[in-house]
Amino acid sequence: CYGLSIAELLDKAGKNSPDKEAVVDGKRRLTYRELEQEASELACGLKQLGIEPGDRVAVCLPTWYEFIAAVFAIAKAGAVLVPLNTRYRQDEAEHILRDSGTKAVFMTDTFDKVNHVQQFQALTERLPSLQHVITVRFQAKEWVSYDDVKRQHNGERVETKIDIKEDVFAIIYTSGTTGKAKGVMLTHENLVHSMVASCEAIKCQEDDVFLHASPYFHIMGIAGILRLIGSETKAVLMEAYKAEKTLRLIEQERITIHSGVPSIFVLELNHPSFHSYDLSSLRVSIMAGAPCPVETIRKVKQEMGCDVLISYGMTETSPILTMTRFDDDDITLSETVGKAIQGVRLKIVNDTREEMPPGEVGELACQSVGLMKGYYGLPEKTQESIDADRWFYTGDLATMDADGYVRIVGRKKDMIIRGGYNIYPSEIEDVFYSHSDVLEAAVVGVRDTVLGEVSCAAVKVKQHAVITAEDLKAYMKEQVADYKVPDHVVLMEEELPKTPSGKVKKFALRDFILDEKL
Ligand code: ATP
Ligand code: MG
Repeated sequence: CYGLSIAELLDKAGKNSPDKEAVVDGKRRLTYRELEQEASELACGLKQLGIEPGDRVAVCLPTWYEFIAAVFAIAKAGAVLVPLNTRYRQDEAEHILRDSGTKAVFMTDTFDKVNHVQQFQALTERLPSLQHVITVRFQAKEWVSYDDVKRQHNGERVETKIDIKEDVFAIIYTSGTTGKAKGVMLTHENLVHSMVASCEAIKCQEDDVFLHASPYFHIMGIAGILRLIGSETKAVLMEAYKAEKTLRLIEQERITIHSGVPSIFVLELNHPSFHSYDLSSLRVSIMAGAPCPVETIRKVKQEMGCDVLISYGMTETSPILTMTRFDDDDITLSETVGKAIQGVRLKIVNDTREEMPPGEVGELACQSVGLMKGYYGLPEKTQESIDADRWFYTGDLATMDADGYVRIVGRKKDMIIRGGYNIYPSEIEDVFYSHSDVLEAAVVGVRDTVLGEVSCAAVKVKQHAVITAEDLKAYMKEQVADYKVPDHVVLMEEELPKTPSGKVKKFALRDFILDEKL
């Protein structure tokens, strides 16, 4: 696949495996020939609509086959894909559509409890550059439907000349955990490189069947689509995650590769009917996005009867940087995120960006063929994070041992320096979570005239729990060194502010605490 553009990936699969089933989406089953045909017709329709090479086209859809078809239609038309989170409220969607200058959007009516019709009515009024709304699986009189666009094709094969190193295929927005979501420009080469390297790390085989249970609008979802087409395997789609449905699909469709955040595996293992399903087809479970407790890893291996791989990455690196190996032991799987995958170099640096010896905590930096071209419309941010030798500074704190295994410690922005001592919030949060009354906890730093910064924990306790902030402080004192005990413990009435993918927005939390609590 090296050297191919995104559109050529699907063309290749259509030619090599025309009659092989590519996608199972509920009752719809598409072969590679059908999927290629669908994308070709749609590409032609987009061209008729006036979409030109370089135009930005957003896709705001659930995990449906139309999302995959839209990705490759956009590629064939030489346009730029902008995935849009279906959970976004109007302001979040507006930021991304305005920032990217999106011209057309694929959307559906109501999903994830958001009324998208109302939302896009308002957005088209506010955004003159948004000229076309393409409705999927429903009709609206003021807009054109997916089927209408497809019907406009005139048999022409749309092909665009692509420079795989230079041309941006997608602008994907980061999750917005540490601030406003940033548009990441990924070229064809970036995405294809990461796809090939991750297929190798997973040891993809032609009879593999992927379960696509996570949303497509995130970098992980886009990478999942490309991995499917690049490896010419099969994917079974689930529009919204449900534990029991997952177990049923694994049995029915003989799924071999199951991936997602660690918490979905916990939900499945604990489901009352877990043992009534035959999961013997599973070959590997891949977990990413958050650390996984060793007990969960052991249970997945024993009770689901498969291997476990852990991976780590980010939007800027298309996304995977590291992965564990098939022969790593359970402790390595739970404590590390593995080693660099092919085409990736890693180092740990100090504040002046000098390389640190093995085992020391510092910022993780990488060089990778998958590294973005830059942040869209933010040349200064791009310059700050990528140096002249194309080392990218990830903003994550980590250690790396002599064998190259990486442990993630937390985010650089979140680290608290209290009177010269470093405090890593995730370590303290884990201790809060070990308390049976705690539902959610997050630790942030706030300015202090004497110590520079002090730590403040925001904790939401479980319903009916009778516990005070002082009790929690006393609990912490027994578990961690005194300087790590939060200076303030604030009991929250509401849930902690989070991104749509469930990460706590610490910058918003810090503002809230400063305004309301301290
Ligand atoms: P923003 O950049 O807008 O603040 P974000 O960094 O959360 O948001 P993403 O690109 O979706 O946006 O997430 C990448 C981040 O997720 C990584 O930088 C890292 O902090 C975290 N992460 C990813 N995988 C893992 C993992 N296996 N273990 C721990 N943390 C992980
Ligand atoms: Mg980030």
